[in-house]
Amino acid sequence: MVISGNIQKFLAKASWIRKMFEEGERLRKIYGNDKVYDFTLGNPDAEPPAAFKKELKRLALEPVPGMHRYMSNAGYPETRQAIAEVLAEQTALPFDKNNIVMTCGAGGGLNVVLKTLLDPGDEVIILSPYFVEYKFYIDNHGGVVKEVPTTSEFQLDNNAISQAITSRTRAIIINSPNNPTGVVYDSASLEELGKAIAAKETELGNPVFVISDEPYAKIVYDGITVPSVFKYIKNSIVVTSHSKDLALPGERIGYIAFSPLVEDPLLLMEGLVFCNRTLGFVNAPALMQRIVTGLQRESVDIGMYQDKRDLLYNSLTAYGFKMVKPQGAFYLFPASPIPDDVEFVMAAQKHNILLVPGSGFGAPGYFRISYCIDKQIIINSLPAFKTLAQEMGM
Ligand code: PLP
Repeated sequence: MVISGNIQKFLAKASWIRKMFEEGERLRKIYGNDKVYDFTLGNPDAEPPAAFKKELKRLALEPVPGMHRYMSNAGYPETRQAIAEVLAEQTALPFDKNNIVMTCGAGGGLNVVLKTLLDPGDEVIILSPYFVEYKFYIDNHGGVVKEVPTTSEFQLDNNAISQAITSRTRAIIINSPNNPTGVVYDSASLEELGKAIAAKETELGNPVFVISDEPYAKIVYDGITVPSVFKYIKNSIVVTSHSKDLALPGERIGYIAFSPLVEDPLLLMEGLVFCNRTLGFVNAPALMQRIVTGLQRESVDIGMYQDKRDLLYNSLTAYGFKMVKPQGAFYLFPASPIPDDVEFVMAAQKHNILLVPGSGFGAPGYFRISYCIDKQIIINSLPAFKTLAQEMGM
């Protein structure tokens, strides 16, 4: 066998989004781009804000000697300090650059955190439905996945989480705004989670880290803001990126921020920086670090995403689909009108609508719609959704 049995097993399991993407390519060749309604990929269709382009141009026209060299594996001090200042302001906690490590996106950051925290066999709790890569990231570092379902409204089930914590639990990954549901956890549920974990930490005598994966934190609607885990959970680590809020997924720029309240922050920092280096990331891209230093208060046009959410949510609910109204990210996660979500996704495909089954996110009976696509494609898709709903007897 050319590749490991483990990876072969994962390839078979992880193929949903790739399979649907390939199907989209096939259908586009037959029917044309505007008649294939591809809701599969979470690839932002927004452009980076004007401030990004201005900074990129400035750095190209006025290069600084040495700007493409290696730097400290944690990243440029001024970039980390700029991030720390915003976090200190949001949380009233004493963040400084020594709480921040610049990373190759949130995906890179999650791998660095897991590598730093886990010994082989340590357990990591993930909440279903979940971002499917978590399982592979945990496996990368010898961890054991423990799945805990969220409530019927996809909110935190803090009792279930508390019961799932054992003496081997090292971390819980939460993700708000959530991919695939678009749900945002409010401050009351984070506070309750913090208390439940603190009680378990006292009982077991070990820290249990909350790793809060937040690349969609600025993509929120209806005037809400995402409450900070740092305010409610002592052993908390935020992993985020500028893939969505500045629409830079291809540039691989993000960061890890950990609470100044953790025990032994110096050792945690040392571990994270070592793992950033030895996982082969070495450091986050230099040019991007320089650019995002001054852009910590910027974001893409959120109104454009909210407009698409409203259009799809209002239309699909009118056709009879049932779903929780998402308050962030760019996904809808409706219930499948038939029990078998894969069969439903296949039926949608016959109308050139490409979706991802909930099974791919550990939540059979649902499907994911990613609406970071051209609004006109969404408008074109609505009659097909209506016909599909009628065909399903809705
Ligand atoms: N976490 C979640 C929930 C995501 O949806 C994504 C990307 O879609 C990532 C992490 C990875 O983001 P990045 O591109 O910053 O690695």
